[in-house]
Amino acid sequence: MSPNRAVVRLKRGRDKAVRNRHPWVFQGAIDRVFDHPQPGDIVEVRDSRGELLAAGYCNPESQIAIRLLTWATADTEPEVIDEGFWRQRLARAIARREALSRDPDTTAYRLVFAESDGLPGLIVDRYGDWLVLQALTLGIDLIKRDLAATLADLVPVQGIYERSDADVRTHEGLSPETGLLCGEAPGGLIEIREHGLRFQVDIARGHKTGFYLDQRPNRARIASYCEGAEVLNAFSYTGAFGVYAATHGARRITSLDSSADALDRVRDNMRLNGLEREDDEYLLGDAFHVLRGLRDRARQFDLIVLDPPKFAFAKSQINAATRGYKDINMLSMRLLRPGGTLCTFSCSGLVSADLFQKVLFGAAVDVGREVRILQRLAQGPDHPVLLTFPEAAYLKGMICRVE
Ligand code: SAH
Repeated sequence: MSPNRAVVRLKRGRDKAVRNRHPWVFQGAIDRVFDHPQPGDIVEVRDSRGELLAAGYCNPESQIAIRLLTWATADTEPEVIDEGFWRQRLARAIARREALSRDPDTTAYRLVFAESDGLPGLIVDRYGDWLVLQALTLGIDLIKRDLAATLADLVPVQGIYERSDADVRTHEGLSPETGLLCGEAPGGLIEIREHGLRFQVDIARGHKTGFYLDQRPNRARIASYCEGAEVLNAFSYTGAFGVYAATHGARRITSLDSSADALDRVRDNMRLNGLEREDDEYLLGDAFHVLRGLRDRARQFDLIVLDPPKFAFAKSQINAATRGYKDINMLSMRLLRPGGTLCTFSCSGLVSADLFQKVLFGAAVDVGREVRILQRLAQGPDHPVLLTFPEAAYLKGMICRVE
């Protein structure tokens, strides 16, 4: 590697995670920084005795001071991080989605999933002829225009739009940034297909990058339980679960969300798929209250989808989050007819699958229901989890039978 690259020396005994190829180096593991690297610069990481271990980009403002990109092996040094390096990483991520890209029934999926694709801090989602890029770290933010140009070269698209408005950017000292990075703007909603179903996506103003792509396989799984069912789609957003349920024979669908815009979009997405549904119901409000209201009116459903937003953003919020999950799951268990199906999710990475199952156990015991897990669900395969970075596993769900 080039000799003029800044060097970061780790404290004694703090090299294990780096040797195990975990991509994060915390401030607390650093003994000394040499050569005054600028924020975003590539640095070499060495152990306390000076052995070269890895290289990555740095940000002294972040608790995660370095995001590693490449490691030394017994006989090779870390790769040189130049334009060719980034191009190759992007090309590999795209190649991993090759099968998806050839499926005409699905035109929206995640193309780059940050650490899981060896590209910490970078998310790229494909929506038909547009890409949406999210720069979550300073190191990526500084080179996002170059990355967008390379992406445009690798994937034939009409434009690349930036949605770097995720809260985590504040940990990196960054403010939100959105807008066109290259090509042309879509000039309205984009129509995508998922398993042959049609959806309108607002990449400029929708949640995250526009659509919850991580739930794609789970929507198909849950659809198979919907024949003849009266369905409650709680935290419906733009109604993706509902559209699948309706296509698979659901008798009646109640969509519940706190966003009026999202509920309007549910209606549009139903119509877009030729599903004119006069009996469907739309409930606008806070799910914690609306679910109680439904219980007080002794309403009953055959299948409930619970897909709430992230409840835990920091370790200190895990307890409150589990109380929230328990509350909505208890209410939902009560709202199900005997033998009904509860499809329940948590997208809080800090709430483990184990803890989530314990929460459901507590909920079932407290409402006196016998609950069986039929299937365990996770984020789709375009959001893979690298074994050296288990933190990427954030979405967990279960399809349960409630008696
Ligand atoms: N299941 C959806 C994604 C859900 S995202 C899909 O597959 O597309 C979470 C949704 O919960 C958002 O639409 C948000 O508006 C809504 N939401 C957040 N807090 C809420 C609350 N307290 N009550 C009801 N809806 C809420």
